[in-house]
Order: sequence, then structure tokens, then C-alpha cells
Amino acid sequence: MAVCEVCGNDFDRAFEVRLDGGVHTFDSFECAIHQVAPRCEHCGCTIVGHGVQSGSSYFCCAHCASRGGAETTAVVDRA
Ligand SMILES: [Zn+2]
Ligand SMILES: [Zn+2]
Repeated sequence: MAVCEVCGNDFDRAFEVRLDGGVHTFDSFECAIHQVAPRCEHCGCTIVGHGVQSGSSYFCCAHCASRGGAETTAVVDRA
């Protein structure tokens, strides 16, 4: 049994996510996404897929990267 660090649910099928040297415990992907998924710097949505990285900024897609002021004009989806 493990307690989800987002909602506090004590769930027997909780799982761990290792990220940047830390370990996070969640009871659902919903909670995991809420806590650790990067957010698009343009539209603010959580990035669940591959996303686009420009420098230190994350965007959900090439469209947001260009609208969000990415330095390069050549940002393309890598998915
Ligand atoms: Zn939870
Ligand atoms: Zn976006």
C-alpha cells in the first residue's frame, strides 16, 4: 500500500515515477501528470506526449513553440 502524493489516496496499485533523481508515488496517471508533467509555455496545457523543447522552454507542439517566442524558426515536432 502506498499513498498518492497528490490526492492522498491510499491505493494498493500505486506506482512510482523516478524523475531528476527523485521518486514520486501516485495512485493514477491523472495524478502523476498533474504533478510532474511539464506545461506548455504558450497555452499552459500539460504535455503528456513528446512535446517540443526549445532551449529551456517546453511547448506542446510546434505551433505553440513558434507562438511562444522560440528562438529558432525551425522547431518541428519530433514525435
Ligand atoms: Zn492521486
Ligand atoms: Zn501549447
